[in-house]
Amino acid sequence: MNFELPEELSALQQKVRRFIAEEIIPFERDPRRTAHGPSEALRAELIAKGRAAELLSAHVSKEFGGLGLEHRAKAVFFEEAGYSLLGPVALNIAAPDEGNMHLMEVVARPEHKERWLRPLAAGKIRSCFCMTEPTPGAGSDPSMLQTTAVRDGDHYVIDGRKWFTTGADGAAFAIIMAKLEDGRATMFLSDTDRPGFVVERAMDTLDTCFPGGHGVVRLDKLRVPATDILGELGEGFKYAQVRLSPARLTHCMRWLGAARRAHDIATDYARRRHAFGRPLGSHEGVGFMLADNEIDLHSARLAIWHTAWVLDQGHLAIHDSSMSKVLVSEACWRIVDRCVQILGGQGVARETTVAQIFADLRAFRIYDGPSEVHRWSIAKRVLKGIAREA
Ligand SMILES: Cc1cc2nc3c(=O)[nH]c(=O)nc-3n(C[C@H](O)[C@H](O)[C@H](O)COP(=O)(O)OP(=O)(O)OC[C@H]3O[C@@H](n4cnc5c(N)ncnc54)[C@H](O)[C@@H]3O)c2cc1C
Repeated sequence: MNFELPEELSALQQKVRRFIAEEIIPFERDPRRTAHGPSEALRAELIAKGRAAELLSAHVSKEFGGLGLEHRAKAVFFEEAGYSLLGPVALNIAAPDEGNMHLMEVVARPEHKERWLRPLAAGKIRSCFCMTEPTPGAGSDPSMLQTTAVRDGDHYVIDGRKWFTTGADGAAFAIIMAKLEDGRATMFLSDTDRPGFVVERAMDTLDTCFPGGHGVVRLDKLRVPATDILGELGEGFKYAQVRLSPARLTHCMRWLGAARRAHDIATDYARRRHAFGRPLGSHEGVGFMLADNEIDLHSARLAIWHTAWVLDQGHLAIHDSSMSKVLVSEACWRIVDRCVQILGGQGVARETTVAQIFADLRAFRIYDGPSEVHRWSIAKRVLKGIAREA
């Protein structure tokens, strides 16, 4: 095992670290940060900076305008990007666009890549992913999918309701999961300016870092040309795995960066702030919290790097990415919660970076599979004796 970063990757890591510190962190106080993510104007300005630094869409192939990084290199790059909540937006690697780009690159037809992936990778447009539905529809259990797609001549007519659709407001196109008349799940690509695609409202959620927030979407007789099926008919659940395995790991990478930021801020505070005649950090109760943070950061990074390696070997990494998702989301949560505690009252003041990370991070234990669902599927594989699928 060689944990040393190749020289080129190490240089890229330093470049992204500098870019975030010098170009992006100054925007964290920008009033154009709203309850539903950075405004479109702020996003455009951030993306322009990422473009000028030649750092956009690191995970996309060079053919489609990205840097073509493999998963292990992404682990390093995305952690640096996540150091600011605005970093992934500036570098065009925020969810859901990042996962959508990955999925499209793997399964989309050439004409769909040209039409949607190319401008998406260039940061010119945004996208959304419509899978989760209100009760009684799909959530943790995707097989409860209610949205239907019925063939009508050269089109499919899609009806249903989705929610928690990140970035729906302002997205140029959507990937929509629907079931055919025979029950097979299929993904469709649709522009969002069609009459049947209605963003009913933006949801009022704890997090504030995703452009466009999270929408409730009504699909009301949405007519999609039959040629705009993403990949192949009936492969919806398979493609969901293609998207989710790497996507949940990239979430881990970005949130690791955010947790490291919180830890750095808390460490700095514990050095400077005094109580009972000495720096906070020299009280064992605080020092141990910093030590536990360090241990959690380290174990989270190792889990990510290992799963990235499994993905780079060409495996789907379903088992490893599930384990990493649970380990990293819970480790990051513990880290940031300790940082809140170390900062005292400031830790819960929304004007501080740590409080913002705390609020934004909470949902990560729920989306891309709640911890309980991952533990449940890990246990099923353990009992069956299957550790890793091809
Ligand atoms: C901030 C945010 C962004 C999101 N973005 C998107 C998006 O862009 N597109 C999209 O399609 N979806 C998105 N989602 C939805 C997300 O994927 C779902 O919230 C998630 O899959 C859980 O589904 P649910 O909310 O319906 O919870 P439910 O299915 O109702 O489950 C509720 C809880 O029940 C428990 N549970 C469920 N099953 C089991 C089990 N087998 N064993 C033990 N416990 C269990 C878990 O604790 C779970 O949290 C987003 C969610 C959030 C919070």
